[in-house]
Amino acid sequence: MTKVTKHFQTEVQQLLDLVIHSLYSNKEIFLRELISNASDAIDKARYESHTNQELLEGNSEWKIKIVPDKDAGTLTIFDNGIGMSMEEVEANIGTIAQSGTRAFLDNLKELNVAGHPEMIGQFGVGFYASFMAADKVTMVTRRAGSKSAATRWESIGDGTYTIEECEKEARGTEVVLHLKEDMREFLDEWRIRSIVKKYSDYVQYPVVMDITREELPQGIDGKPIDGAEKIKKVEEETLNSMKAIWARPKSEITEEEYIEFYKHISHDYNKPFRTIHYAAEGTSEFKALLYIPEQKPFDLFSQDHRKGVNLYVKRVFITDKCENLLPDYLRFVKGVVDSSDLPLNVSREILQEDVQIKRIHKNLVGKILGTLVEMKEKTPDDYLKFYKEFGTVLKEGLHFDFANKEKLQDLVLFESSKTEPGKYVSLKEYVGRMPETQREIYFISGTGRNAVENSPHLEICRKKGFEVLFMIDPIDEWAVQSLQEYDGKKLKSVLKGELEVDTEEEKKEKETRTEEAKKQYLGILEFIKEKLADKVKEVRLSTRLTDSACCLVADEYGLDANMERILKAMNQDVPESKRILELNPDHPIMGVLNKMYEKEKGSKKLADFCELLFDQALLTEGSPIRDPLRFTMLISELMVLEGESLIGK
Ligand code: ADP
Repeated sequence: MTKVTKHFQTEVQQLLDLVIHSLYSNKEIFLRELISNASDAIDKARYESHTNQELLEGNSEWKIKIVPDKDAGTLTIFDNGIGMSMEEVEANIGTIAQSGTRAFLDNLKELNVAGHPEMIGQFGVGFYASFMAADKVTMVTRRAGSKSAATRWESIGDGTYTIEECEKEARGTEVVLHLKEDMREFLDEWRIRSIVKKYSDYVQYPVVMDITREELPQGIDGKPIDGAEKIKKVEEETLNSMKAIWARPKSEITEEEYIEFYKHISHDYNKPFRTIHYAAEGTSEFKALLYIPEQKPFDLFSQDHRKGVNLYVKRVFITDKCENLLPDYLRFVKGVVDSSDLPLNVSREILQEDVQIKRIHKNLVGKILGTLVEMKEKTPDDYLKFYKEFGTVLKEGLHFDFANKEKLQDLVLFESSKTEPGKYVSLKEYVGRMPETQREIYFISGTGRNAVENSPHLEICRKKGFEVLFMIDPIDEWAVQSLQEYDGKKLKSVLKGELEVDTEEEKKEKETRTEEAKKQYLGILEFIKEKLADKVKEVRLSTRLTDSACCLVADEYGLDANMERILKAMNQDVPESKRILELNPDHPIMGVLNKMYEKEKGSKKLADFCELLFDQALLTEGSPIRDPLRFTMLISELMVLEGESLIGK
């Protein structure tokens, strides 16, 4: 095949432009990224060679080699890992497959990323980081065990690359960076040595470099000959310690090392928020080094979000895709688990069902939740920071992890009618400050604080001093369904059914009043019901309103307005559900309507007012009204009437 020139996918070019023009003040991280790729490639070759010896091609001395060439101005990184076929080069370098990443890049265009490197830092730019230091990058690679030709890829980062077949003796990949004029510092031996030490010390394979030493020749006695001409001796030196950080005792690991390792595995630009490092003993023996990030990644809620815990067996990398290691709702946790119980050649399929993995899973979840519980108790401000980033994901756990319900229900927080915006209350605190007369835990669901805060549905609770939790995160609807109750108290939506807010005495007193009101308003209630028959399933007097005239409520088991909105947003077929119109017997409007009814049942005005009542109820809960034009027409008419009576026409 001859050399062909191809175009990068648009998003790749965007990414490259970002890398070249606005990213990172510390250019040196390109070396970390390339060493990281090399190490991943060796991980893969090593893993695959357990089942396919031929991949080794007779050489299992894994190695990453860095070769600076001052004359040519190039820095080359060699690895003898898995390598790539031409198709793989095309798929991996030059395209971005993950839709989440693409969507993220689209968003970035609108933001000023230059000032916010942390935004892009959170998804590793990987290979493309080469272009921070080089104005031309050549990659030559051959897939391990493959007899076919190798591939040569080259680009100057201008939107195109060339690709062609070539010869390559050794398996694996070499990346040649033609360094920019002002980047030649990266050819310096000491510079390379210190960068490797700083970022890649724990890489499990030797990262080597040829070091040239000048020595005096030795005499027959083995001693250096003084005054003789020095000879040059080239020795391959390993620059990293290769110690798996998670296998070392905690006391020997510095904060810096923990941070660098986190950045290595997470591609996060920020420091980790919490580090959890421990060894489990007993029925399951493993070491875990886990991190809770400071910020949520851009793709936390996207389908192709990568889970963050890598599985090792006796320090050999097995997979970064062990789905069962952690539940989905803890997908934000990054880190490494190294088991001593699993066999080295464990297949990824077996991992699905393995009991050891199940044990590890249970242990990890317990440890992470325990850490969060402790954070919440000891450093509540930290917990709040964490919760603002990951609270929504954590709430998924209420629905999916029944076994840990107890812990989770004490970890979730909500805003409420008694918290300031952006402040939260836990269920425990809520129950702790419930007035004696309150029996249930009240909540209201809606699209946001603004939408629920002034809802008429809260009126009676406000009056009684009952706190109402604001369920304003879409996931809350599911969280509540899974929770059902806390501390023996039912969670009760103020949007549904009847509210049991009164004491026995109050109830009795109210009942007599309601009976009277019912008798008084019997006719008008029937009338309204008839007029709104196609819109509501019932019209009744309310016990939850104190100031407003009316509101809509759902049946105890019906869909409230919020759930209906959510389901519609998820493109689900939502059956047209009629709700109940509640009217406030103490509101003057009731008296007026009643008199109008008694005076002239057939009045057109009265029918119009019924419609207006219904529309008001829709508007206060944030739902759209069915015929806005007619609504405004009726309001305008009223304004004219009212105005005219004011000016005495
Ligand atoms: P990432 O490493 O985050 O996946 P990169 O852009 O660095 O992103 O690399 C993209 C892909 O290219 C890698 O996932 C890997 O499949 C492949 N790749 C990169 N470098 C190497 C290498 N040295 N050997 C084999 N494959 C590589």
